[in-house]
Amino acid sequence: MAWVWGEWRAGRHPGREDVRRFVTSLAPEERPVHAHTAQAVAYDFWDAVETARTNRSDGMSRARLPWRGKKYRPLVFTRNYGWRVTPEGRHSLSLGRGRARIVLPLPAFTDRGGALVEAARWGEIKLCWSSNARAWSLHISYRCPEDALPGFAQDWGGERATDGQSSVRVVTVAIDEGIINPLTLAHQAPDGAREVMVINGRSGRAIKRGRNKTVAKLSAMLSRCKNGSRRHRRLTAAKRKAQGKAEARLRDFNHQTTAKANKAVRAVHALHQAEAPDGVTVTMRVVVGDVRGIEQRTNQRRRVNRSTRQQLSQWERGIHEHQLAYKAGLKIEHINETYTSQACPACGHRRKVRGRWYACTNETCGFRLHRDAVGGVNILTLADNDGTLVPAGPDLRVRVTYLRAQPGWSPLQRELHGHHQRTLGHAGSGRQRSP
Ligand SMILES: [Zn+2]
Repeated sequence: MAWVWGEWRAGRHPGREDVRRFVTSLAPEERPVHAHTAQAVAYDFWDAVETARTNRSDGMSRARLPWRGKKYRPLVFTRNYGWRVTPEGRHSLSLGRGRARIVLPLPAFTDRGGALVEAARWGEIKLCWSSNARAWSLHISYRCPEDALPGFAQDWGGERATDGQSSVRVVTVAIDEGIINPLTLAHQAPDGAREVMVINGRSGRAIKRGRNKTVAKLSAMLSRCKNGSRRHRRLTAAKRKAQGKAEARLRDFNHQTTAKANKAVRAVHALHQAEAPDGVTVTMRVVVGDVRGIEQRTNQRRRVNRSTRQQLSQWERGIHEHQLAYKAGLKIEHINETYTSQACPACGHRRKVRGRWYACTNETCGFRLHRDAVGGVNILTLADNDGTLVPAGPDLRVRVTYLRAQPGWSPLQRELHGHHQRTLGHAGSGRQRSP
């Protein structure tokens, strides 16, 4: 980083490959890692530079170029470089020529279907240290392109089919993100009704609330004892342990939330593909109401109270988008979501919403819908009409389904739960509620 800042100050403009060349040509004592790990460091740094530049040109004036030195980085190995499986069947990671290797047991790593992914299919490998859990973990990625849904933006060059003979049909899934319900998905069913799936985030909020309480209590106790004392050490360890535990549970919660959303998007695709005439390919478009930036600067503006500010800053929105895009194999588009929670989907009349139900105050309309679904339906309308809210009219029908992401269950617990749900007659899709 010092080198790049030096170049900038001298009026030069190094590019991505210049940074890579500089890092990989450092003397071995300055670079105690494998050449491909060094390359990954350089490219990650450059990604951060480009993100900051994009954010700036998007109008985020507070976006800064990377400036803080890092005390920690995961050890990254690119596909096929710097690591191998030894003849004894161990996993060996290189730290560069002339250095001792890190030798680990070979991980038995399975895909989503439960089948073993052999080492030949592994992509990037990361060795990470979790300071909270005080443990090492190995993160291995692998490619499964056959899993991706046909995307509207990538495969068809962003062209929307307008002619009647087109063999491509675009189906939009709109997503409304929120704190109470992390993801609300909406699409138009083949029969014309809007179908809304609300993924509930109660368990995620419970994990965060529990962690915030424990951490606050321990911090208060820490502030009353002497730095470096035995009690101080014990309390710090307890705080880290609580944070590590909450982190693991939140990771599980996020994965379950996005797995539910992925399943729903795939079901929408299958439904429309089954209805489409022969020879027509259904492609998917996922559009999210743009709330980027809401969680920032809440302190200066003081528009919301302290606990809401905390909720906003701990919102997993970006993680959910990233995971859903990855799982469904689709690119996610953003759309300006102004007024989508206030406008009536049927007549377009606006009002402030209080309580759990949205009731239109336009007397000739009187449309009613559960509040959770309004944003999703409106974002869908925006996406399908190039960013304008076209009222759907009095014939609008909306079906709402609730899904719950429940973290912290073992596979057996989950199976048993599924069994009970099926016996009770509301498996998988959740309860149907009509507006
Ligand atoms: Zn209305």
